[in-house]
Amino acid sequence: LAKKSNHANFVYYKKEMEDETLWRLGMIRQLRTDFADNRLELWYQPQLSLITGKVIGAEALLRWRTAEGKFISPAVFIPLAEYSGLIVEIGDWVINQACKQIKVLEQQKFDHVGISVNVSIPQFKRDNFVDSIIQATINHDVKPSKLELEITENILMDEPQVVIDALVKLKAEGISIALDDFGTGYSSMSYLQQLPLDRLKVDRSFITGIAEPGQSLIADTIINLGKQMNLKVIAEGIEEEEQQAHLIAQGCDEVQGFFYAKPMPADEFLTFLRNNK
Ligand code: C2E
Ligand code: MG
Ligand code: MG
Ligand code: MG
Repeated sequence: LAKKSNHANFVYYKKEMEDETLWRLGMIRQLRTDFADNRLELWYQPQLSLITGKVIGAEALLRWRTAEGKFISPAVFIPLAEYSGLIVEIGDWVINQACKQIKVLEQQKFDHVGISVNVSIPQFKRDNFVDSIIQATINHDVKPSKLELEITENILMDEPQVVIDALVKLKAEGISIALDDFGTGYSSMSYLQQLPLDRLKVDRSFITGIAEPGQSLIADTIINLGKQMNLKVIAEGIEEEEQQAHLIAQGCDEVQGFFYAKPMPADEFLTFLRNNK
């Protein structure tokens, strides 16, 4: 009897895996078509200085709006784009779109506002990744330092030296580098000093509880580590005033979160900047 039920479980499991695979292939096919049809949008979430209260930049975040007008979360489609390799083309588009936006900001006299873009492992693996980024800043005539690449610790999992070499080259050209979701991924304390970083981003998971007694140790330690390393420290996922108060007391430099603004389309970001003067 036991054997029989195991068998039944196996069949059920196999069926689920097949469904999952079909779903994934369908999504990838739809993503490819929708990307070709210009259905991906780049939205911007403001980042503010805790000292001046002014916007200092924005993180560019992909949005996928299907033909039916439904938004699909990046948490769902970015892993599929990475798995299928589509992220290389999409990532190229993101970088060029961000550079275009940096130029618009300059023309609107928001000279101090930079844009951060997230980059994935497969993008680093192509031969001309470094050149493609430098070329984008040249093509759009923007200062490289206005463009920031957000990498996660996981990017070092495979071939750390390849990634570190690429980042060192990019940094030498003036591109800014941030370490995103710090403390949540593959542990890389030994690599931390080899990365040519400008900013450390404290992950939202460490910010959620910081206003509660005894819940702020990790966030506080990361802020302190960043300061010791002469990096700017930005906290993400601030939703409440009490969290902001704690971050100010700890000397965190910058913030990003729903408390200030959610990600928004490019034109709304310009309006947000005009109202932030
Ligand atoms: P991430 O890079 O850590 O981006 C921050 C995420 O936190 C964004 O989710 C943002 O909307 C969300 N967030 C910001 N403030 C708050 C807050 O106060 N509360 C809450 N609950 N959430 C907040 P989003 O836009 O859904 O993106 C998810 C992830 O998808 C990103 O995490 C990033 O890893 C990836 N992603 C997004 N766009 C791109 C892209 O262009 N390229 C690549 N490679 N990955 C991307
Ligand atoms: Mg990010
Ligand atoms: Mg993050
Ligand atoms: Mg994240």
